[in-house]
Order: sequence, then structure tokens, then C-alpha cells
Amino acid sequence: MIRIDGKEVSKAIREKIKSEVAELGFSPGLGVVLVGDDPASQVYVRNKFKACETVGMTSFETKLPADVSPADLKKAIEDLNNNPEVHGFLVQLPLPKGFDTDEVLSWVDPKKDADGLTIENIGLFHAGQPRSIPCTPHGVIKMIKHYDFAIEGKNAVVIGRSQIVGWPMARLLMNENATVTVCHSRTQDLKSFTKQADIVVVAAGKPEFVDQSFFKEDTVVLDVGIHRKEGNGLVGDVKTEGCEGHLAGLSPVPGGVGPMTITMLLENTLRLARASH
Ligand code: NAD
Repeated sequence: MIRIDGKEVSKAIREKIKSEVAELGFSPGLGVVLVGDDPASQVYVRNKFKACETVGMTSFETKLPADVSPADLKKAIEDLNNNPEVHGFLVQLPLPKGFDTDEVLSWVDPKKDADGLTIENIGLFHAGQPRSIPCTPHGVIKMIKHYDFAIEGKNAVVIGRSQIVGWPMARLLMNENATVTVCHSRTQDLKSFTKQADIVVVAAGKPEFVDQSFFKEDTVVLDVGIHRKEGNGLVGDVKTEGCEGHLAGLSPVPGGVGPMTITMLLENTLRLARASH
């Protein structure tokens, strides 16, 4: 079984981004709006800024308290919309309880939408004219390709249909000419679908809820889930025991999809920076 190593794939792509940034003649700026003090979000933001530094991008952090008023949050977003040094930015999700996420995202200038979550960019993406490509599914596609697993003509199952992961994942797999089935919380007999699949992307957000028995031999499995284990460490949506020797490939947690998501954010920022000049 091949370990689909997101750190390894990221390294190669970040080198390329770094050299493209050096040729630009200016430093692309990535902004993050962090509302509240959720510890996991703080770690994600720190990792995004570290990644920026490694490729020569400049980061801009806007930290706001959890009880910030919608008007002040809107003002902070408009400041980033109007800052010429910021080429792309995102609002770190999830927002604290009480905020209307759709409304907050509607304040982001689509030309600076580094996550690709504004209505305009979702529309462009699904119309096949992407401006920003949703980072996590884009990273998954790059990982599959990096290890030369075939996608065209294969049966792919996506578990999860969220706007951020499952739904754009299905679209990207279709773009690569896979035959795609999307399973979700109301799917009956999930295993009957995954057992037919050559590629399974698991993004249900449930710790270790599928195991080796869900897959036929030589399936390629990408595990998007991230969960903190009681005590310490992280696990994904896939229980890994028994997968070695059964699957063709599996992405680990940590060190799989996570680093790739950040790398694809850098790629979106570079694309937005280029488009702005
Ligand atoms: P979400 O909660 O928005 O969506 C979960 C999806 O799973 C839903 O569409 C739901 O219908 C489906 N689902 C739930 N239970 C199911 C079941 N029993 N059978 C089949 N489908 C089921 O979550 P999300 O934002 O899409 O994220 C999914 C997971 O991926 C989470 O663990 C999240 O933390 C992780 N994530 C990781 C990264 C990364 O960079 N690695 C990025 C985004 C999300």
C-alpha cells in the first residue's frame, strides 16, 4: 500500500510556488480574519502564515473577539477588500455561534476570495471557469495524480456533500472523467457503494467510521477527516488497521490532506495576485 504523503506532495508544489512568486516582482499578500479564540482555528491560522513565509508571501492577520459586532466584522472585511497589498484572504471557519456565515462570506470581494467560498466563485467553479478552486478537494486531486493513480474511467465515491469538501470534490473528480457517486448521511447501505469504488474520498467528519471492510482490494482512499483523539494525537475518518496490504493507497492523518489544503490556499493566492496585476 502506498502512503499518500501530503507533506511530500506539498513540498514539491510549494517549491514551484516559491519560484513563481520570486518571478512576480512583488509579494502576494494573504489575509486571514480570525474571530474568537478557538484553539484549533488558531493552529490552522498559524500554519497558514508559516506556509506563506516559506514561499515568500506576506500574511495579514485580523483578529477579532468572539463578540465582535457584525458591523465591525464587515468593516474589517471591507478593509481587506480595499487593501492593495492583500491579494487574497479568507474568513477562518467555523465562525463563533451567532454569526450568519453566508452573510459574512457575502462581504468578501470575490476577486480576493482565497477559499473560493463566495457565491460568485462557487458559480464560476461549477461552471468550469474557476477563479479560486476549493482548497481541500483540489489538494486531494493533486495527491492522487502525484502518485499516478488513474482517475479517468474509474468509479469514485465521495462520502460527504458539504459545500467545502464533498460537493466540489465530486465536481473535480468528474472533471478528471471519473464516474462519481456522492454518498451522504441519508445514504442507505454505504458499503454497497464503497465496495464498487476504485477511489474513495472520505469526508464525513466522523472519527474512524469506515474501515478496511468498506473497500475492495486495491482501492485508493483519501481520508479528509481530522479529529483530535482523547488524550493526544489526531485520527481521520478511516480506521487504518487492516488497510495495509489491502488498499492500493491511503493518505495518513496527520500528514495527508491537511498540508495539501494549505498548499492549495497558497496556489489560489498566487492565482489571485497574478489576476490583480
Ligand atoms: P460537514 O460536517 O460539513 O459534512 C459532512 C458530510 O458527511 C455531510 O455532507 C454528511 O451528509 C456526510 N455524512 C455524515 N455522516 C455520514 C454517514 N454516516 N455516512 C455518509 N455520509 C455521512 O464536514 P466537512 O466540512 O465536509 O468536513 C468533513 C471532515 O473533513 C471533518 O472531519 C473536517 O474536520 C475535515 N476537514 C479537513 C480538512 C483538511 O484540510 N484536512 C479541510 C476541511 C475539512
